[in-house]
Amino acid sequence: MIQESQSTVRVLITAGPTREHIDPVRYISNESTGKMGYAIAEAFLDAGMDVTLISGPVHIGHSVPVDKIIHVNSALEMYEVARCEWNDADIVIFTAAVADYRVETVAQEKIKKNDDELTLQLVKNPDIAFEFGKVKRADQFSVGFALETENLLENARKKLFKKNLDLVVLNSAKEVGAGFGWDTNRVTFVFPRTTKEFIMKQKRDVAFDILEAVQLMIQKQEVCAQ
Ligand code: C5P
Repeated sequence: MIQESQSTVRVLITAGPTREHIDPVRYISNESTGKMGYAIAEAFLDAGMDVTLISGPVHIGHSVPVDKIIHVNSALEMYEVARCEWNDADIVIFTAAVADYRVETVAQEKIKKNDDELTLQLVKNPDIAFEFGKVKRADQFSVGFALETENLLENARKKLFKKNLDLVVLNSAKEVGAGFGWDTNRVTFVFPRTTKEFIMKQKRDVAFDILEAVQLMIQKQEVCAQ
């Protein structure tokens, strides 16, 4: 009997920071380097999956082929690209540190320092993971990240349910060696019913742990569908 070949798993990943411009030369951003998101893209590519990486501005060495990366700047741009891509994805992984707010009106010219005070009016950016959670199909999986400073597990669990995620990767913003900038991370996987703690390890190895967790979820879905 000829076995039908399994189709390639398609993975959409967001990574890095976003930049919210104030004027042509200034912006609001954050400390995200993109290391975790790019490590995940590399691990899933190595596993033979079809990866699309939506990346904010980063300056790191990596081995993700250029044709797999869609470069964006702002949260709105990242959201627009994600919306065009997420229907085709089997797995969506939200690693990006998306700015929660953007400036309501970006100044066309460089803002002059004429006054002693300057007030910027900020408006909320779309929550990309939350928006995807509203339209996620039963055959799709999503993974989010939570970088917390307090009530770590409680906040991660809230995000899991609010954003309709299958897994939240929790890391502490206060721990040396974990979170933004480091080559290492110490994470806890938060699933709907269970949690799993890991030791501090290279982000590359954290990416393989995420790959393994996602592969297990896919296998479970295939078994349940039979
Ligand atoms: O910022 P927050 O802690 O809520 O981020 C949790 C998850 O949601 C992360 O996976 C992040 O990539 C995603 N997120 C997003 N769009 C936002 C804010 C967060 O996709 N505007």
